[in-house]
Amino acid sequence: MDGSRCLALVVAHPDDDAYGLAGTVALHEHDPGFRFVLVHATDGGAGLIDPAYPPASQDLGSIRRREMDAAWIAHGRPPDRHEWLDYDDGAVNQVPFAELVERIGGILAQERPDVVATFGPEGLTAHPDHIAVGAATDAAFTRRRSGPAAPAARLRPPLHVGTLEQRTDPARPEAVGSRPDV
Ligand SMILES: [Zn+2]
Repeated sequence: MDGSRCLALVVAHPDDDAYGLAGTVALHEHDPGFRFVLVHATDGGAGLIDPAYPPASQDLGSIRRREMDAAWIAHGRPPDRHEWLDYDDGAVNQVPFAELVERIGGILAQERPDVVATFGPEGLTAHPDHIAVGAATDAAFTRRRSGPAAPAARLRPPLHVGTLEQRTDPARPEAVGSRPDV
């Protein structure tokens, strides 16, 4: 594909994508040229289960994968490509950084997205998985931007997802108002 209208979202856990960028996907979902690539580092298998729910017969990770698929179908715009990197939930920051950069970078190299979104250095909630994924995506993007085949003039730093408060606070470097290029 030519990557002319491709958005790549790289996050850690199921649900990070929903609160991170679902609105943006909805904005473009009827554009036939829009391609949505979603990358999850983990399936969230170590998440907590509310004791009010009956015990699950399957592991939480497989349940969350199905929930993820169902959520995007309900949203009306499933990803055109969805990659699970299959790391352990809560341990992404223990993955060799170079490996994480290489795997994410491989997907970016294949897709050549116009926009890459991931976590900023604060990890949105300071979750170590978020911080690791964001840092690796930034590094993968920077490496690609400086590579010999990169159309450097078109590439800008990755968009960092954040809360509405973070996005509108001009004191924050990731705020939309402080980023005229996004
Ligand atoms: Zn998360």
